[in-house]
Order: sequence, then structure tokens, then C-alpha cells
Amino acid sequence: MERPGSKLVVAAAAVLSSKPMLELPAARAVFDAIATRDEAIVAALIELVDIPSVAAAPARLEEAAAAVGRQAAAAGFAVELWPTAGAPVVFAEIPAPDGAPVLLFYGHYDVQPAEPLEAWRSPPFNATVRDGAVYGRGAGDNKGQLLAHIEAMRALRAAGGCPVGVKLLVEGEEEVGSPNLAAIVREKAGRLRCDVAITADGPFHADGRPMIVFGVRGLVYLEAVAEGAGRDLHSGSHGGWAPAPARTLIQALADLWDETGAVTVPGFYDDVRPATAAELELARRLPAPGPAGRGANRDAWVTLMFQPNLNISGIAAGYAGAGMQTIVPARATAKLDVRLAADQDPDRIYGLLRRRLAADGIEVRRIAAVPPSSTPVDNPFTAPVARALEAATGEPPWLQPRLGGTTPDFVFTRILAVPSLIVPYGPPDMHHHAPNERLALTALRRGVRSSAAICLALAESGTAR
Ligand SMILES: [Zn+2]
Repeated sequence: MERPGSKLVVAAAAVLSSKPMLELPAARAVFDAIATRDEAIVAALIELVDIPSVAAAPARLEEAAAAVGRQAAAAGFAVELWPTAGAPVVFAEIPAPDGAPVLLFYGHYDVQPAEPLEAWRSPPFNATVRDGAVYGRGAGDNKGQLLAHIEAMRALRAAGGCPVGVKLLVEGEEEVGSPNLAAIVREKAGRLRCDVAITADGPFHADGRPMIVFGVRGLVYLEAVAEGAGRDLHSGSHGGWAPAPARTLIQALADLWDETGAVTVPGFYDDVRPATAAELELARRLPAPGPAGRGANRDAWVTLMFQPNLNISGIAAGYAGAGMQTIVPARATAKLDVRLAADQDPDRIYGLLRRRLAADGIEVRRIAAVPPSSTPVDNPFTAPVARALEAATGEPPWLQPRLGGTTPDFVFTRILAVPSLIVPYGPPDMHHHAPNERLALTALRRGVRSSAAICLALAESGTAR
């Protein structure tokens, strides 16, 4: 019996179980060219890491954009800096040879704040090479990974030229939720036209194998506020007859889930697209990530990427310090996040939660909203990209249907309407967002080889939309 998607499972299994390392005939010369530039590649990464492009410091963001632009230009790209309402976007292009597919690489030059500074063994914005890694804020997330694309072009050029069209889109606001990315992608959709988008960000699998991820969950982040008397009150004099915002908020929040943890808001699950048999099969093959603690439920982990989740991120009211203070607090607040599954709409989910909490006298404010995004696993680019990753790393990639987290992937799948593959180049122990962030030189080299091999494999497959 033919199950829906079973052909895809067979194809994916073939990719996963291919024993001999796949050879890309043209790759050898390119990999050799990469090997000769080890020191230069590290120097280029150090130049980028040394610019403290934290979102809160606009001048340094422009400086970082300019540095990325200079490095791309030196590698053969035609470079433009596009202004946005926030940090500039670097757009760089290598035109496609006649009839060749066009590939868009996305990355970001902004970084997380480096705090707590005292936890760093070397200064976060003065990159240090030790123990075979570049240490510094942004080394892995995402400067080293975006640099891989630039250096790959350099190597391809040295070995005779890039066989596909390549566009590079590097923004400077990813770590604050990409507030201006959708607008610029919409405005420049013509210039950004491509056959496939590829994002190298985040860590690859804990077992060291490369990974292709085919989508992300979306996010709605909101703040819920229950107001009381306008000031804290004596709980002996007022408790029981004055409004009690902490109680109001807690009761309203508790009502959002049933005893199994399912969300009780009517309509919440209406638009959730069920996982296909093929997606479930791929998810089941994946080794679960790091320790989740006692009572962790692997089945729940497998389905996590296909289901939404409503979570309390934070809750605050009244006195929680040492000893006691007997008050009826004036207000209570909570931060809630919803991870959205395909095809939930952030506006609709926000509206459902707002109405439901308003009925309990709670005001809700939206802080962030990012739609979910998904690309069919059986898109025409999976096979060549998987083949490229195997040629570059020596191992076939894991195929992961979805990321539990959120990235602005929807700008590619929804605005540009192209398949989008997330192909992380960072090792799982790169300490991204944390002190002592680092990128192992082996991973940096592997990333450059991967970007180059992806170009070669796409050219060879002749895959275009
Ligand atoms: Zn990050």
C-alpha cells in the first residue's frame, strides 16, 4: 500500500543511508583553494568580530555592514548597502551564468550583547584564537557563518568561477527580531529573486553531522496586565474586597490550559497543518537533542515541531523578596509566548488570546509576531544540497522537518515564495548568546566548503524553478 509521502521517505532514506562519500568532481580544486586561505579566513573573521555590532549601538552596526560589504566586494560580489528604518542591509550579488539557478544566502551581522562581561575568558570584541577556535561575540552567531558564503565565492573564483548566481542578504537586526526585514524584502523582491534561499545559522546536530532544516515555528509574544487599585494596599484592611490583580491574572492564565496541557481557547488549533507521514518519519529518525531531564518524553519531542505551544515566559506581581510584606499588589503582569505551527496566523492567534483574556478583565499588548514557515521536504533542492553537504563534511546530513524555534524564514517562503533551507554551520558547543562564544576553525573551514559545494551541486543538478 502506498502511504502518502512514502516515496519521499524512500528518497530521504536514500540520502541518509548513502554509504560511499559522494564526490563532486569540481569540488576538489575548490576545497584546495579554501585550504590555502586558512589564515586569511581567520583574519577576516577577527575583523568582523572586533566590531561590537550589538543592536543597541547603531554606529557600530553601520561599521559592521560596511566591513561585510568590503569583504564581499573583495571576494567578487557587486555590493550595495540598503538603508532600512533600522540597521542597513548588505546586498551582494554574483550574476548567474546563462540558465544557471540563483541561490540566495541569508545571514546577519548584528550580535547579542556580551553581558555578563566578567564571565568571558578573553574580551568579547577583541577576538582571540586559542584551542583551535576563534573566541568572541558573534564568532559563530552569525559572523563566521556568513563569512563562509563570502569565502566560498573567493575559492570558486580562484578555481574558475562560480557556476550559479549567488545573492547575499545580510541584515543587522536579527537578534532583535528582524523588525525591518520583511519590509525591505517586499520592497526589493525583484532584486532578491532567486530559486532557493539558504540560511546558515544556529548549530548543526550534536552528533557532528550536518543538517538541513525545512522550516521554523512562528512566534507571538505578548504581555498580559491585570490592574488593581492603582497602588499597593494593606492586605488586612483591603484584602477580600479590593480588586486582587495577582489572583485575577493567575486564575485567567490557569484557565488557558486543560489538565493535559492542551490550550482551551476555542479556535486555537483550527489552522494547525498535520505533519505528513514523511515529515513524521524524518523526525523519528533524528536523535533527540541534549539532556532534557527526568521524565522527558521523546514522542512529545518528535511532534513538538508540528504543534503550537503556549508558554508563560515570566510572571510578576507584588512582593517576592526576603521576609514578608502584607499587601494586595496594585498590578500583575505576565509575558506569554506562543510558538506557532504551520499554518497558524500570528494575527489570528493574538486576537483569540486578547479576546479571551479581555473577558477576564486582562489587557493584552503584542510585543512580537513572526509567522511560521515551512518548505516541503521533497523540494528539488534537497538532494543537491544534501549531496553538497556530504561532499564538504564527509557525512550525509540529518533532515529535520522543522525547528522548534523561530527565525524570519517566512520572508523567503511567503514573500519571495521560494523553498528555504536552513543549513547550520556552527558546532553545537559554540556558546551562542552566552559568554565565551566561539567558532571552531574546523567548523569555519567546513562551512566555507559547504557553501562552495552547494553552489557546485546546484549547478550540476541544473535545478531552477
Ligand atoms: Zn543569535
